[in-house]
Amino acid sequence: MIRRITMPLRIGKVTIGGTAPIAVQSMTKTNTRDVRATINQIRSLEEHGCEIIRLAVPDEQSADSISTIKKSVSSPLIADVHFDYRIALAAMNAGVDGIRLNPGNIRDDEQMAQIVTAAKESEIPIRIGVNAGSLPSDFEPGLSLAERMVDLAMEQIRFMEDLDFNLIKISLKAFDVLATIQAYQMIADRASYPLHLGITEAGLPRDGAIRSAVGIGVLLYQGIGDTIRVSLSTNPCEEVSAAYEILKSLKLRQRGPTLVCCPSCGRSETDVLKLAQEVDKYLKKIREPIKVAVMGCIVNGPGEAKEADVGIACGKGKGAIFRKGKVVKTVSEENFLLALTKEIEKIV
Ligand code: SF4
Repeated sequence: MIRRITMPLRIGKVTIGGTAPIAVQSMTKTNTRDVRATINQIRSLEEHGCEIIRLAVPDEQSADSISTIKKSVSSPLIADVHFDYRIALAAMNAGVDGIRLNPGNIRDDEQMAQIVTAAKESEIPIRIGVNAGSLPSDFEPGLSLAERMVDLAMEQIRFMEDLDFNLIKISLKAFDVLATIQAYQMIADRASYPLHLGITEAGLPRDGAIRSAVGIGVLLYQGIGDTIRVSLSTNPCEEVSAAYEILKSLKLRQRGPTLVCCPSCGRSETDVLKLAQEVDKYLKKIREPIKVAVMGCIVNGPGEAKEADVGIACGKGKGAIFRKGKVVKTVSEENFLLALTKEIEKIV
């Protein structure tokens, strides 16, 4: 896996692109005017490891809230602005760290120039956030969805470069995973700005995480992508957990525990799935990058999970606790969870 090196960009305290780690982003789901609720959700996101947080800024009151919110949180904040250039200007005045604009719905060059000029003066990056759902209708016939998204992004890039502005990040999101992959592959050949990856409107947690893992995972494996967001129809903290699972799977980031868990089969003589769920819940409290295995059979368990730091292989009425594949003790079934968590505590 060779990572494509892009132009590094600072978003508040976080560097993206260049050789910086791939950053995890999410978006609040509160009404931004509700300052208290928004601060609380941002803090939860920060606890889950979210590094850049976007807020919907649909009106001037939301933009004004940014200055108060910023005082209570530490993450860089991005204002998500659609349709009205004055809201982008207000968000920048309020001290936001970045702006996301959808070029499909601010089509007035004069208004866009005002935003770019203000961003340049304040050194605030702009994400050109192309979305398949809001492409202009006046496109060249015969172009694929990916080509239309790339053309719109390139048009915006040229517009900003003509104004001598290069604090640019790009995203090209669609629900269609193949179109999204193609669009990012094309833009990666044509521009060196950092890319923010995501599958838009990906869905409920299970299906959305799968779609996102396929789309984002393929691109990351090809070395494309500098920040990611897994869009899920649920609490945004789950987006962050899913994003880290994608990055951990590709060995691009390490964060928190990883649970290795067998699917169970006819060999298992215990409720291994229930135990795995209990262990998963316990691991939510742990920050260290430990690998824990819960296996349903004493014959294959330690061998199949020998890369785990610690694990349990459950047998009939008793199980083996192992470390790096070596059995360290045998425990009775009623002590499976307790014995495993005690062993984890010794490591962390
Ligand atoms: S570890 Fe044992 S119980 Fe689990 S899937 Fe493998 S063989 Fe089946």
